[in-house]
Amino acid sequence: MSQGAIERRGLMLVLSSPSGAGKTTISRELLARDGGLVLSVSATTRPMRPGETEGVDYVFMDQARFDEMVRDGAFLEHATVFGHCYGTPRGPVEAALDEGRDVLFDIDWQGAQQVAEEAREDLVSVFILPPSTEELERRLHTRAQDSDDVVRARMAKAADEMSHWAEYDYIVVNEDVEASVAAVRSILEAERLRRERRIGLHDFVEVLRRGS
Ligand code: 5GP
Repeated sequence: MSQGAIERRGLMLVLSSPSGAGKTTISRELLARDGGLVLSVSATTRPMRPGETEGVDYVFMDQARFDEMVRDGAFLEHATVFGHCYGTPRGPVEAALDEGRDVLFDIDWQGAQQVAEEAREDLVSVFILPPSTEELERRLHTRAQDSDDVVRARMAKAADEMSHWAEYDYIVVNEDVEASVAAVRSILEAERLRRERRIGLHDFVEVLRRGS
């Protein structure tokens, strides 16, 4: 029997990092290479950036709609980041987990803390660090989708964001995208084999023990 044939609960893979550490590229690569992983698309009140697509990068909404979803308990977690609201819609995550799929979250440390409070046993959290301050600054400027003011604000926030590194299960220093993607895939592969998630193991072993 293959590993995948034994029933297991889906896991929630949270990736956090300061802006510019390469998290978005790593997420995209993980999703492209792993058919069992689906992305949780967050809702946000921030304006759409050039190149972003509604419903793919985010579900963009006004403050009134966001507040309504908070009141309805429609978010698994939500937080204010850089003055805008972000939240993870609960429904699609629960549907994916029920199907035994794993869900990737690109959320900040506040979101990771809330997911840990709700479902610690299903959470695998990874914090991505840039290799140096210079490289972080360079990447933020190269991206150039934000104004200089926003880049400056994000550099200042990066120090705060990075202070939460010790709350995560795994730390990946993103020197090289390929190596970082490989590291996160190894984490995922090992976490999928954890005994606690493999709810079909009990029956599988019983059959082995009976010898039939
Ligand atoms: P950006 O506006 O650059 O796309 O994202 C800014 C920050 O918000 C990133 O650190 C990102 O991880 C975080 N973020 C995006 N979506 C969510 C969400 O649904 N919940 C939380 N807590 N943070 C989010």
